[in-house]
Order: sequence, then C-alpha cells, then structure tokens
Amino acid sequence: MNLNDRKIFNEKMETLSDDELYGHHQKKFLSQLEYLYKNSKLYQEKFKTADIQLGDIKRLEDIVKLPFTKKHELREAQRYNPPVGNHRACSEDQLSRVYSSSGTTGVPTYIGLTRNDINDVQAEAIARLCWAGGIRPNSRVVNIPTAPFIADTFREGIEKTGATNIPTGFNVDRVISAFKYQGADALHATVSFWTYLLDKLERLDINPKTFGLRRIIGGAEGGTKLIRPLIEESFGATAIEGMGMGEMSCIIFGECLEDRGNGMHYLSQGIVHVELIHPQTLETIPIEAGAEGELVYTSLESRGMPLMRYRSRDNVRILSTAPCICGRTGFKIEVLGRTDDMLTILGVNVYPLAILDVVSSLKPLVSGAVEIQLEAPGPVVEPPLKLKVETGDQPGDGKKLKKLIETKIREKLIFRANVELVDELPKAQYKTQLIKKVYK
Ligand SMILES: [Zn+2]
Repeated sequence: MNLNDRKIFNEKMETLSDDELYGHHQKKFLSQLEYLYKNSKLYQEKFKTADIQLGDIKRLEDIVKLPFTKKHELREAQRYNPPVGNHRACSEDQLSRVYSSSGTTGVPTYIGLTRNDINDVQAEAIARLCWAGGIRPNSRVVNIPTAPFIADTFREGIEKTGATNIPTGFNVDRVISAFKYQGADALHATVSFWTYLLDKLERLDINPKTFGLRRIIGGAEGGTKLIRPLIEESFGATAIEGMGMGEMSCIIFGECLEDRGNGMHYLSQGIVHVELIHPQTLETIPIEAGAEGELVYTSLESRGMPLMRYRSRDNVRILSTAPCICGRTGFKIEVLGRTDDMLTILGVNVYPLAILDVVSSLKPLVSGAVEIQLEAPGPVVEPPLKLKVETGDQPGDGKKLKKLIETKIREKLIFRANVELVDELPKAQYKTQLIKKVYK
C-alpha cells in the first residue's frame, strides 16, 4: 500500500484489542522490569526498600505491587548523582541527547535519551499523533517550539511521517514567509500561538483563508475546545491536540481528525503503559467510561532513563473505551486539570479549566480569556475567588454582565466569584497562564 493511503500511522499498534494490548504490554513490561533490575540504580534501591524481588512480579496486573515514582525523586536522583541522575539505565556513552524539562522552578530536570528512545519512543508517538491530525508525506509542516525540547523531537516525528519539516523558531514573520514562499500547509504550535498568528495576519491584512494553512497540531494546554471553532473557521483548517510528558514521551494521547472534540485517544501503545489512580488514596481505578483519576505512566520501550509508575499529576476523565469511527481502539480521555493547579474552594476541588469553560459559554459577551487572581498560596481558597474576565465584542451592560458571570459560576461550580471586567488581558505567545499569583 502506498504510504499516503494509510489511514493510521501504526495500524497494528493503534488498533489492538484490549486482550492483544494486555498481552503485548505484559511481555514488554516484564522485560523492561528485568532491564531496570539489572541497570537502574534508582530502581534497584526502590525495589529493595519496597522488598520486591523480580520473581514477585509475574503478570502485568502485578504492577500495582511496585512503588510509584515521583518528580521530586528524579530531582533528588539528579542532585546526588549528577549529571542526569541514577535512574540512567544505559551507559553515559549511549545517551544521544539530554533535554531539560520545562515548566519547573529552580534547577531544571534533565532527561537523557538514547537513539532508540528518540526513534522508537518520542518520534514514533509524535508520528502517530501527526498522522491522526492529517499530516501526510506530502505535507509541509511549520514546526514551532512548544517547549525547547519538544521542537526537536517533533521534527523527528514529523519527518518520520514522511512530511517536510520547516523549522522557523518563534519568529512569526518567518512563519508567514514559510507559508508564502515554501508552500507550507500545516502547523505544529501551542494553542496560544494559533490565536497569536491569527491576530498577526489580521493586523497585516492577510486573509487567513487564503494563507494556506490546512492542518494544525497543538499541544494540550487547555482552551483547544474553546478556540478551535474560530481557528478552523478562520483558516479553513482542521486542528487537533495531543499531550504527553517529556520524561515518558512527549506524546501519549491525541485527538483524531474524524472525531476531534470528543477526547484524546491513548495512542502510545507499546511505548508507555497507562494506569489510572485516585490521587489521594492511590488506589487503581479501572479504565472505563466515566472514570476519573490521575494518570500514571510506565515506560515500555525507553532504554535511557525509563520510569515505572510515574505519577503525572494530570487528572483526566475517561470519555470512551469503544472503538472510534477513525478505526483506532485507544480509549479517549479529557483533561480535568493538574493536581498542582487544582484549587479547593469550600471543600470542593475546582480546576481552572472548568472556570474557563463556564466563562467561555457566555461568548460573545466575553472574549473567553480569564485570569484567576490568587491572593494567597493555594490550593485552599477562601471565597469569593477573584477573576478578571476579558469582555467580548458585544459586552452589553457591564453591571449585568458581571452579575451574569458570577451567577453562572455559582450555578455550575457552586462557589462565589468576584468578577472584574477588563477590556484586554495580556496575550501569551507561548503558554497562557490561567492563574495569576497576586500575593507576595
Ligand atoms: Zn478516533
């Protein structure tokens, strides 16, 4: 079959039945465990402390006997065993690349990848996402760094699909030139950049419809659902999002073109094994429609710095486990928010994304942009929660609008909010922060 005609990038892996997936993951998990026993000092210590022998783990379901791995353990491992930490399971010579992870404060955490990890973990998963989003060998993709290290691996993922990769950096003029002079027709960038680009084109008086952008791949940062209709309509393009975690694989989940808007497929079969746990009791939750919990990841393919039962801090809801119209069998999730961003108001857990959803439902009275003003360190917040809300094109009466937003939030999310309407909130080029810490 012509590569172009494939509907699914890795049809064998992405259409496995539950039983086939279990069998495949069991085999890989047991062999990975043996590899860690032999090669990872961190896991040798962890298994010893937990008093677990290799022979105790016979099946995939025995995974629950293994201890979790947390981010702070990796930071400590790196601090006491520089340069990358004693979870390195290969020789230093075998590391082809060392990335620093994004979004943390203080010393970055470093992630070492072998050639295998680049090809068969990161690039493979990214290629599956790109294909699901409509990238094909004849696509010409402008690749904008969504984080320093993601740009590199995305390049390899894009090239793995057979498409042409056009790196531009963050320079929006270069992005525009790539479409104008290089016939670019696809874009990989954060959701914030989609709107940034649209704004820029409007200011330059360039019609987005004739700009040539047809396929957009984004990183999940919240807000895709809200901004997608405008972006797709303005450009005459399709837009999907994916998500993952640098330490495991930049991409683990992603939407498909055919059913976009209805959740992200699990699409890293054979690369990362996924469990769902209750973030407080740490109990395993079966993956079935409606279930909610924190994602926990286990590397099945990585050789550089593989992790077992790594707590993602990402809380999700399982939307569906039924096969999709696109043919993929990976279950679908929706992101509820990060454990770290979660606020507790009157004993109820509230995710910033839920607030964004409620406010955005009032478009065009509001623009959809919100900033939560955190006056004291979270997660516990005394109501009312202060919100800045950007007004839309037709805001109407300010007093009425403020009241309407506050009532909607009270109805849907139970807590009291104090809304301040503003004409414009600062636009992020990279990643929009929903929470602003206004305390000292
Ligand atoms: Zn699908």
